Amino acid sequence: RAQESGAGSFLFYREQMDERAKEHLRLETELRIAATSGQLELHYQPKVSLRSGRIVGAEALIRWRHPERGMISPGVFIPLAEETGLIHEIGSWVLEEAGRQIGSWRSAGLAMPPVAVNLSARQFDRRLPSRILGVLDRHGVVPEQIMLEITESLLVAGADNVVAIMNELVAMGLALDDFGTGYSSLAYLKKFPISTLKIDRAFVVGLPHEENDCAIARAIVTMAQQLRQEIVAEGVETEEQMAFLRDLGCDQLQGYLFSPAVTAAEFERMQREGVRLSVAR
Ligand code: C2E
Ligand code: MG
Ligand code: MG
Ligand code: MG
Repeated sequence: RAQESGAGSFLFYREQMDERAKEHLRLETELRIAATSGQLELHYQPKVSLRSGRIVGAEALIRWRHPERGMISPGVFIPLAEETGLIHEIGSWVLEEAGRQIGSWRSAGLAMPPVAVNLSARQFDRRLPSRILGVLDRHGVVPEQIMLEITESLLVAGADNVVAIMNELVAMGLALDDFGTGYSSLAYLKKFPISTLKIDRAFVVGLPHEENDCAIARAIVTMAQQLRQEIVAEGVETEEQMAFLRDLGCDQLQGYLFSPAVTAAEFERMQREGVRLSVAR
């Protein structure tokens, strides 16, 4: 091992670092271009009611169709965008595109359920509410047709203007995403005007076999019911998970069991055809 810690391995390490830094930079440059050259798309993942099996909402999820590399996952480029500040441009694009799509469904006379848009903590500034209202206005969309998904990191940051900003966004509906994976204490929850909790996939995956996941899911649902919050389970892939969550009293499910995120046209078709999940006991 002595040899490896010598100058040679240091150089090797440096080269690897340089490669990673270059790759990072390349991606950043390309992302800047993507945002203005039509490489970004929004796909829509349905949320279904565990009572009726009907589609009652959708989550808009960003997709990057890279000309050479194919689809790049938001799990890769959103963190990069957050680091570099590009999230402001991308976030504005997402809001505008969601507004445009909802508005076009509305003007076509289609009855579409509310669409949720993900917001990064960095987008959360004092001008956000008026920006969103501007988007809705431009596209003739009412606040009931949109929802906003935020994460616990925003609550933990604890900026006092966060509550004030949230209060201005209440008409749109605020959902707490990836619930259970952050570090917010339960006492935090009642401080914020959050109408919906989304149980993270990490706790859904082990249902109904992992005792710990069952206990966590049960605790989250019970608490949400006490706080009169809607509860959505993320990442539901099996009938067994669905049945367990339905019996717990969870309101909605989102996951591959019903559908992955699909194009706007495909989502529209599903809604027109009244596609349903069988939730019968
Ligand atoms: P998220 O908001 O928690 O979105 C849910 C993720 O879980 C999506 O991944 C979705 O495709 C995936 N998923 C849904 N059902 C299942 C399932 O049954 N099994 C599995 N294995 N996965 C499932 P996606 O689209 O790759 O997005 C990843 C994350 O990127 C999102 O997590 C969100 O944090 C972020 N993101 C996506 N779009 C946007 C956006 O427009 N703005 C911002 N700020 N973040 C976004
Ligand atoms: Mg989300
Ligand atoms: Mg709403
Ligand atoms: Mg989530």
